[in-house]
Amino acid sequence: MVQRLHKHPSTHAAAAVVALLTSVSLVFGQTKIVAPENKYSVQDDVKAGREAAQEVAQQLPMLRDDGVDGYVERVGQRLVESIPSEFRHSQFRYTFDVVNVSDLNAFALPGGPMYINRGMLQAAKNEGEVAGVLAHEISHVALRHGTAQAGKATPYQVGSILGQIAGAIIGGVAGQATSILSQVGFGAAFMRYGREYERQADLLGAQIMARAGYDPRDMASMFQTLQSKGGGSGVPEWLSSHPNPGNRYDAINKESAMLRVNNPTRNTAEFTQVKSRLQRMAAAPTTEQVMKQGGNRRTTSRDPGTQYPSGQVGRAEPPSGRYETFDGGNLFRIAVPSNWRELQGNDSVTFAPEGGYGNFQGQSVFTHGLQVGMEGSNARDLRTATNQLVQGLAQSNPQLRQTGAYSNVTLSGRTGLAAVLTNVSDVTGDQERIALYTTRLSDGSLFFIVGVAPAREFNSYRQIFNQSVQSLQINDGYRSSRF
Ligand SMILES: [Zn+2]
Repeated sequence: MVQRLHKHPSTHAAAAVVALLTSVSLVFGQTKIVAPENKYSVQDDVKAGREAAQEVAQQLPMLRDDGVDGYVERVGQRLVESIPSEFRHSQFRYTFDVVNVSDLNAFALPGGPMYINRGMLQAAKNEGEVAGVLAHEISHVALRHGTAQAGKATPYQVGSILGQIAGAIIGGVAGQATSILSQVGFGAAFMRYGREYERQADLLGAQIMARAGYDPRDMASMFQTLQSKGGGSGVPEWLSSHPNPGNRYDAINKESAMLRVNNPTRNTAEFTQVKSRLQRMAAAPTTEQVMKQGGNRRTTSRDPGTQYPSGQVGRAEPPSGRYETFDGGNLFRIAVPSNWRELQGNDSVTFAPEGGYGNFQGQSVFTHGLQVGMEGSNARDLRTATNQLVQGLAQSNPQLRQTGAYSNVTLSGRTGLAAVLTNVSDVTGDQERIALYTTRLSDGSLFFIVGVAPAREFNSYRQIFNQSVQSLQINDGYRSSRF
């Protein structure tokens, strides 16, 4: 179920790698690294990473211990200051967070947000090994591997993959709130790198370490430490699917031989203190355990809504006459009744009254309210894309029917379609009505609003849906230039 956070190259990914991007420069005594071609702007990295970081914060528990965080931050910043000038981007902001999970993993998002699992810190033998992991991840960011990788995908994949990472809302199917982690994995695009990118991150990481006064051979030694910790759970995430790690140690050690470091930092008192501090804390859960409990998302853990026993009618609080504007990141704003709860899905956001949403047979459902979402689409036109969405909805709602033709509407000043669908509620077994509104974003993605209410209440709810739809403001200008 749980996807790996940092997917190192799989065998098929390795086979797909084409060009060798590096060449040996004898003049400088270190391997010259050339960042891969990238059709996105540096600002794209920043935006995509920032939005994905919000998702990470919602899904994963951060340790938030000043002693530990401060230490990792200091080691990290020391490395960041040693990034060679040609790979510096003034817009990037490297931040370091410790995730309170036991798995051996670390990952970085475009533009600089970096995460290291507590398990990784506890496995490291010394500060040099911690620096090795961070230097490797910093290098992926500095070389902009995430967006370079995404740029290799087909146009359709780019839309959907970057949408998944960057947007908090995508591909929503009414009543199905699946975690982005379990569905596509963080970094479907950004963290599954080919062998060549890994090689670059190793080499640049080694160079950064040396410049910062660490011994790059500690990076190789961290790989060995991780290898030895695999234990019952198999190969640690961070190392998983390295086709031949032996070559990596050799390559790093070879590079290290060209890099002269006097008195490298290896063991520090601070590192020892941090390790014993972590040792004294309650054991961390695994990422899988966190995900089984619905992630770190507060709305799910603290507020599961109604647990519907089968056949029970959802009795929803009536909508207040007052509207409040919800700010959907950079992408949209919409006004909804002020007493409606905001239920963040990773691919959509649902607004529903108390008693109008909940959990039914293990699925998130809502009987009253509206859902705003977005999904990648390769359809030729809005009508085709909308048909595909309706088909998708029908898959999880087999009794869904469209009652008439689409009507043309205006959504946030752009061409849109509207339709009314009928369905039989899973929860109540009663007829319900669905008001669907769609429009396309400039990258071709489909933006949709789905309003749901029991048939007998539909006429009054429809007015609310219309009011919300009229308040909708879509701002996808930044998307058109990026994606
Ligand atoms: Zn890597």
